Amino acid sequence: MEREAIVYFQPEIETMPRDELRDLQLERMKNSFRHAFENVEHYQQTFAEAGVTPDDLESLDDLSKFPFLTKQDMRDAYPTNLFAVPNKDVARIHASSGTTGQATVVGHTAEDLKNWGDCFARGIGMVGGSADSTLQVSYGYGLFTGGLGAHAGGESIGCTVIPTSSGNTKRQIQMMKDLKTDILACTPSYALLIADTAIEMGYDPATEFQISAVICGAEPASQNMKDEIAEKLGVQYCDVYGLSEVMGPGVAMECAEKGGIHIAEDQFYCEIINPETLEPVEVGEWGELVITTLTRQATPLVRYRTRDVTRIIEEPCACGRTHRKIDYLRGRTDDMLIIRGVNVFPSQIEQVITEFPEIATQYQIVLTTKGPLDHVELQVETVPEFPIDEIRKLEELKARLGAELKSNLQVSVDIKLVEPKTIERSEGKAKRIIDLREGK
Ligand SMILES: [Zn+2]
Repeated sequence: MEREAIVYFQPEIETMPRDELRDLQLERMKNSFRHAFENVEHYQQTFAEAGVTPDDLESLDDLSKFPFLTKQDMRDAYPTNLFAVPNKDVARIHASSGTTGQATVVGHTAEDLKNWGDCFARGIGMVGGSADSTLQVSYGYGLFTGGLGAHAGGESIGCTVIPTSSGNTKRQIQMMKDLKTDILACTPSYALLIADTAIEMGYDPATEFQISAVICGAEPASQNMKDEIAEKLGVQYCDVYGLSEVMGPGVAMECAEKGGIHIAEDQFYCEIINPETLEPVEVGEWGELVITTLTRQATPLVRYRTRDVTRIIEEPCACGRTHRKIDYLRGRTDDMLIIRGVNVFPSQIEQVITEFPEIATQYQIVLTTKGPLDHVELQVETVPEFPIDEIRKLEELKARLGAELKSNLQVSVDIKLVEPKTIERSEGKAKRIIDLREGK
């Protein structure tokens, strides 16, 4: 008997004419501001300090009159002072790990969760997925939004979902093969570990597995690393952007045309500001991404400063979707290392090392203090084919890598080349930076 699947996924929203989309954004933003203002003391205070009320939002251009919300504001609101609905309407709570301070707690109503699933499902659609697809979710499940976010996306579009979570990599790979997984969702570092482990197990996943796409996010990855994953697994790589404060993975997703990540603009309004002056930048310029949620009920956010560095791409995409794209992230202003007064993103280091075929993509940066100065040691693994016991070749590689890093970063880096499989592998987010500097 034919059974009608319950599918919330609505692709027509993604091709809405832009003037209609802007009208929808304004209408939703007005409702969201009223809802936030009426129910959250923090917004009553900060709106009053800025001399505005929700009635001052008459056009999208008026948004710049409203105050920002920072990560610190969210921490200060611990545990639930930013919630705009009573407890009976909160369906789920997620929280950030809080490794760098107080955890930030985010509530979701049943409607918020449905919208989240729909946003992630758009990415599944972008890689050609459908109700016929099998989605393996190898993001961690729990307070971290990766696992349950991808899971909701799979259910929203009607996929068969396999909630393997992260870990137990060999069993994951066996299931991936035996259950004919089409789409894998996990962190980029874990996708690479899965690919390498499958190859070690004697498989060629690119030809022997059914897998056709990976949906990866939650940590930065260089283009070379993305290409390596796509090649080893024989898949389309889809970059997913999201953050737990705003929702989770699915705020923006990458289509097959590449060249950036489509924002779910019916759900989120994005601005780019100069993080120093807090003024909006010129169209197309790089800066800090600021997000206003348009439909979220439990924790509506007004002008949340993400600390993520990107730009908005105004040009229409060849895929036909009308929602604009953000460029691939340059990093998080939080991840930015200040080494001897120079701003360095770990992604810049990764970009350089992936240009060396003699070196594997695994790396670790160890920061220490030597005398008055910061000392940077970069540990990288050579590939198995490299003759690591030939001192002359090793020194020559070190010198070339050191020169390349120096010219890209303007900082001297001490390089330690280690044998394959020396650096600890990660089943979740990779630990790339070990900061042992005094006073850090
Ligand atoms: Zn597109």
